[in-house]
Amino acid sequence: ARLKEGLTKTRNSIVSGIDSVFRGFTDIDDDFYEEIEEILIMGDLGVDATEKILTDMKQKVKELHLKEPHECKEVLIDSIRRQMDLGENAYEFEHRKSVVLVIGVNGVGKTTSIGKLADQLKAEGNSVLLAAADTFRAAAIDQLEEWGKRANVGVISHKEGSDPAAVIFDAVQAAKARNTDVLICDTAGRLHNKKNLMEELKKINRIIDKEYPEAYRETLLVLDGTTGQNALSQAKQFMEVADISGIILTKMDGTAKGGIAVAIQSELGIPVKYIGVGERIDDLQKFNSEQFVTALFD
Ligand code: GDP
Repeated sequence: ARLKEGLTKTRNSIVSGIDSVFRGFTDIDDDFYEEIEEILIMGDLGVDATEKILTDMKQKVKELHLKEPHECKEVLIDSIRRQMDLGENAYEFEHRKSVVLVIGVNGVGKTTSIGKLADQLKAEGNSVLLAAADTFRAAAIDQLEEWGKRANVGVISHKEGSDPAAVIFDAVQAAKARNTDVLICDTAGRLHNKKNLMEELKKINRIIDKEYPEAYRETLLVLDGTTGQNALSQAKQFMEVADISGIILTKMDGTAKGGIAVAIQSELGIPVKYIGVGERIDDLQKFNSEQFVTALFD
């Protein structure tokens, strides 16, 4: 119910349009499919995913010998489900020694998401430690410490301008010494200097490889869901500098562009692992494609 509520704007933009198409058309013809295409693209599912969905839908409509537009809605929903299907969205970093790097540009909700994630993991019985390796801005460090207090987890930090790799080194030693389950590292996301960013992430990864080889690893990219197709192109840029294992899609509560989750999974093949649906500490939900599509169209 909270998911449905969080997706209200996206639901309104997609569902109302789709419903009128299924009710308004008398024939399954080119106009019918064009109308659906337009709605999906307006809903930020992206051109690529939309095309795949329509191709799949047309084939199924043929196979099932459907004659009436109103019979096609379930077929469309199933096609969207299939396009999003990446198998299980795994949360393998839970309840084991793991290091989660979090990347993303300023303002997308990176710090907030780390705080929420720490709180959630803790509530589920994990011990959690944060590393403030986005050392570029003092505010980023302060903010992470603030969230550490809120979630009641430790934060390893150095002063502004210090070497991010040194913060990671200390954080890894602390995680090992404290027998921490999940070490979550806030890292910089300065995309405008890709080469530097790539070097910085490489250095961080080398330190973890060397100091904590037994740890399970993830790199989560935080994207602002309200930016729609821009989030998609941002993801493509980050894919050039890092091996991204999952996405945290934020601000899904305030946007009509929630369809971007479909575009991300279908086009990039990277699972959306969490969505942010508000500013409070408990406003982070594990993402499940099946539930997402159901919530969108139900
Ligand atoms: P950062 O610069 O990427 O670390 O971004 P912040 O974590 O500071 O977040 C930027 C703003 O977005 C803050 O005002 C947050 O409260 C807000 N924010 C983050 N996640 C969400 C979300 O899921 N929903 C809403 N409505 N706001 C969010």
